[in-house]
Amino acid sequence: MEFDTIAAISTPLGEGAIGIVRLSGKDAINIVNQIFSGSDLNEVNSHTIHYGKMIDPHTNNMIEEVMVSVMKAPKTFTREDVVEINCHGGIASVNRLLELVLELGARLAEPGEFTKRAFLNGRIDLSQAEAVMDLIRAKTDRAMDVALKQLDGKLSKLIQRLRQDLIETVAHVEVNIDYPEYDDVEEMTKSVLLEKTTDVYQEIERLLTMAKQGKILREGISTAIIGRPNVGKSSLLNTLVQENKAIVTDIPGTTRDVIEEYVNVRGVPLRLIDTAGIRETDDLVEKIGVERSRQALKEADLVLLVLNNNEPLTDQDRQLFELTNDLELIVLINKTDLEERLDKNEVEKLAGDHPVVSTSLIEEQGIDDLEEAIAKLFFEGQLESTDVSYVSNARHIQLLKQALTALEEAQNAIDMDMPLDLIQIDVTRAWRILGEIVGDTVHDSLIDQLFSQFCLGK
Ligand code: GDP
Ligand code: ZN
Repeated sequence: MEFDTIAAISTPLGEGAIGIVRLSGKDAINIVNQIFSGSDLNEVNSHTIHYGKMIDPHTNNMIEEVMVSVMKAPKTFTREDVVEINCHGGIASVNRLLELVLELGARLAEPGEFTKRAFLNGRIDLSQAEAVMDLIRAKTDRAMDVALKQLDGKLSKLIQRLRQDLIETVAHVEVNIDYPEYDDVEEMTKSVLLEKTTDVYQEIERLLTMAKQGKILREGISTAIIGRPNVGKSSLLNTLVQENKAIVTDIPGTTRDVIEEYVNVRGVPLRLIDTAGIRETDDLVEKIGVERSRQALKEADLVLLVLNNNEPLTDQDRQLFELTNDLELIVLINKTDLEERLDKNEVEKLAGDHPVVSTSLIEEQGIDDLEEAIAKLFFEGQLESTDVSYVSNARHIQLLKQALTALEEAQNAIDMDMPLDLIQIDVTRAWRILGEIVGDTVHDSLIDQLFSQFCLGK
């Protein structure tokens, strides 16, 4: 496949005044060469960087001193010739350079078009392309790690293996349909079918279990801090923010004011939801009513319920327990530096299976225990025990669920002793659906829609 040459301003990592104009396509080198004074870019080796000046052909004036990277196909991100013009003269000269290369025959790239080319040229598969998108949006270290793993193709490899299993099974059936005279072969085929589809089914289920984690990792774990007035909610919030300053990544598209709500507790990204609300309205239940706090709590992945060690339990405390009983809850008995007036037995009873942690936020006691409890909730089991990349993409989750349904139907058909070719249809459907995750069987319109979500210049 051969495409026209595209160009865009590509936001560089980090800050500073450096801007990059990036081109991809067969004319990329030639176009830049026409406005570059320095080495003849048509003659230079691939993957080399060249210092020179950009000259405006209309006026013969110098626009900028630049560094030009020349990367020749196929060992480039898009598998096409790629040229990057690095300049540090601010946005005006970057824009001027872009104008010039467009004048000389490049076309302005659509959002995500560089990545789309990488996909269309077979450099990356669709799930990797989506990982690039996730990477741009990743808000925390761990989320970035997940995106990077996916980019590395781990999810793709797993999906491809499952598809391989299914297609081999289908081949089995094919053989059987061709030689129907062997009765016992049909029995055998069905038992192989059942075994294989069950294996694949379980693997997909496992992926889906992790998918919830994937969502959490990308968005941060929505965390609500609740409790009566004066128990120490704001103090807790401040402590969490101070001790676990969110790691600010240099990925473009993440804005600082959003990140400020994120804290990173032992690698677990927490999103303190409605932080401002909690700060202003000290008592969630009283100020916004039980019904609405129920609603707010519904969106929380984790609830931190703060109690005051220095006061007896009140009905309001009990009401909060009731509201949060079915949620992921950690109970904090705060102000342990003060005299104990709280009935700890009753708290333990109300908390049930949920962890109870004692703290004195003012004396900075027990914070480790709290962090431990948070980390334990989310890492025990699933996250640590496996190194498969997590599914963190709504489209993938949807497709995995569809594949499960198809496999279920195949299993039902086997159970009901249906003819083999009917079973085969379901298995093939599962295979095709999984293919959509890695982009083997997707429609053009979906591809366009997916790539249009990218930032410009990516
Ligand atoms: P909120 O109303 O629940 O947000 O509670 P605040 O965080 O505003 O705290 C209310 C008061 O309790 C403030 O004066 C805090 O300094 C104090 N406080 C918070 N944590 C502790 C603690 O562990 N021990 C003591 N003695 N006071 C605390
Ligand atoms: Zn407060």
